[in-house]
Amino acid sequence: MTIDDLRSRFRGDLLDPANPGFDTARVVWNGMIDRRPKLIARCRNAADVAAAVAFARENGLVIAIHSGGHNVAGYAVCEGGMMIDMSLMNGVRLDPGLKRAYVEGGATWRDVDMATAPFGRATPGGLISVTGVAGLTLSGGIGWLRGTRGLSCDNIEAADVVLADGRLVHASADKNADLLWALKGGGGNFGVVVNFTFSIHPIAEEMMFCAPIYRESEANDIISKWRDYMAAAPDEVSGLVEFSTIPEDPAYPKETWGTRVVALATVYDGAAEIGEKVTMPLRELGTPLLDFSGRMPYTVIQSLYDTIFPKGRDRCYWKSTYLKALDDGIIRDITAGLSKRLSEMTYASIWKFGGAVQRVPADATAFGDRSMPFMLSLDAIWSKPAEDERNIAWVRDMWRDMQRHSTGRMYLNFPGLGEGDTLVRDAFGVDTYQRLQAVKRRYDPQNLFRLNQNILPQ
Ligand SMILES: Cc1cc2nc3c(=O)[nH]c(=O)nc-3n(C[C@H](O)[C@H](O)[C@H](O)COP(=O)(O)OP(=O)(O)OC[C@H]3O[C@@H](n4cnc5c(N)ncnc54)[C@H](O)[C@@H]3O)c2cc1C
Repeated sequence: MTIDDLRSRFRGDLLDPANPGFDTARVVWNGMIDRRPKLIARCRNAADVAAAVAFARENGLVIAIHSGGHNVAGYAVCEGGMMIDMSLMNGVRLDPGLKRAYVEGGATWRDVDMATAPFGRATPGGLISVTGVAGLTLSGGIGWLRGTRGLSCDNIEAADVVLADGRLVHASADKNADLLWALKGGGGNFGVVVNFTFSIHPIAEEMMFCAPIYRESEANDIISKWRDYMAAAPDEVSGLVEFSTIPEDPAYPKETWGTRVVALATVYDGAAEIGEKVTMPLRELGTPLLDFSGRMPYTVIQSLYDTIFPKGRDRCYWKSTYLKALDDGIIRDITAGLSKRLSEMTYASIWKFGGAVQRVPADATAFGDRSMPFMLSLDAIWSKPAEDERNIAWVRDMWRDMQRHSTGRMYLNFPGLGEGDTLVRDAFGVDTYQRLQAVKRRYDPQNLFRLNQNILPQ
C-alpha cells in the first residue's frame, strides 16, 4: 500500500512531520519521551485502524498505539514508525437497561465517567480522568472501585479488535474466548481494540473521599495503623498510602510547603454518610497536618488528581513491585528507602488489594495471580534532563532492595521503561506467560504489535 492509497481510504487525519499539528500529536505524558514517528494516523473508525495497520505492516513500520498517552515507558509513540492515534475514537454509549457501556478504543476515563455517572453507574477506572481506558484496562486497571468491582479488566465483557492481518474480530465469552481472556491483563499485544463492552454498576450520588495527610516523620506508626484498619475494612473501602512533598502552591497553607507527608487516600463505594463514618478512624490515627476529606460526586473524585500530573511537563520513571506482606519491618524498610528520594516532586504509594480483586481466580484472566496483599509503586518525578540518571538509579536501587519483600511480580502499568529481558515474563509468571504466548501466536504471529509489555510469540 502506498501513502496515496492510504490517504484515499482514510477518514481521519494523517499527520506527517510537515503538518502543523504533528508536534502536538506526538507528545505523551512522560516529558522524558521525545520521539518523532514517520506518520501519525489519527483514526476515526475501525476501517481507518485497519488501513493504518495494513500500511505499517506492508511498509515495515513499527506501530505505536496511542490512546491516553499515559504509558510511563512511552509506548504510545515511536521513532520513525506509525503512531496509531485513537484519540478521536472516544465515543461512549450505554445500553438503556444500564447494564453495559460500549466504549471506543481511544476514550479516556473522563469520557466514560461523564457518560455513565449521570445515570448513577460506573465501571472501575484509574485515579486520573485523562488516562486512556485502553492502556489502563488492557494491563489490569487499579482504581477506587476495586474492592467492590475488581480491576478494570475484570469488567470487560467483550471487545472488537483489529488484528495484525487487518481483520476485525469480536472477542467474547462465546467467540474468540482466548482473545478475551488475553485482553484482560495481557496488554496491547494482540491488536488494536476499537470497542470495549464494559459491565457498569450502580454508584451513590455522593461518595466519601477520605484524605487525611500526616507528616512523613510519623509514617511508620501511621502506616502500621492503616494496615490494621484496612485488614478489617469492608470491600467498599479502597485506598492507598501516598508519599509526597507539599508543593509551594497557594492551595496549601504556606507553613506546610516543603513538608514531606503521607496521605491516606481512600474512597468508600457507597452512600457518603455511611462512608464518612466508616473511614473516620483513618482521620484519627494521629494528628493530621491537613485533611482534604469530603463528600463528593464520583466524577469529582475521578478528577481530583488531574492537575498534579500534567501531560508532557515532567520527567518520570515509575516502577512497581507487589509486596508479600506489610509488617512493621517492611514498613520501616520502605520509609527508610523513600527518605533518600532525590526529588521533592517524587511520589510513591502503597496500594491495598483485597475484596473483589482477589475473588477472581488466577486463571480466569491474563492478569493472573491476585494473591498479593499490597503493591509498592516508586514514582520518581523531576524536571531537568541532567537529573535523569540519578533519579532513575534511585528507583532502580530501591526497587532492587525491595525485592526481598516482593512476591517477585510487578504491575505492568508501572514498568519503569520496560527494560529487562525477563521483566514481562516474570510479571506474568511462567504459566500465564505461556498461555499468552499461545494467544499471541494465533492473533499476531509476526509480533507486529511489539511496542508494549511485549509477549514474544515464540
Ligand atoms: C498520571 C498517571 C496516573 C495513573 N494512574 C493509574 C491508576 O490509577 N491506575 C492504574 O491502573 N494505572 C494508572 N496509571 C498507569 C496507566 O494505567 C498506564 O500508564 C496505561 O498504559 C495508560 O493507558 P493509556 O491508554 O493512557 O496509555 P497509552 O500510552 O496511550 O497506551 C499504552 C499502551 O496501551 C496499549 N493500547 C493503548 N490503546 C490501545 C488500543 N486501543 N488497543 C490496543 N492496545 C492499546 C498499547 O500497547 C500502548 O502502547 C497511571 C499513569 C499515569 C501517567
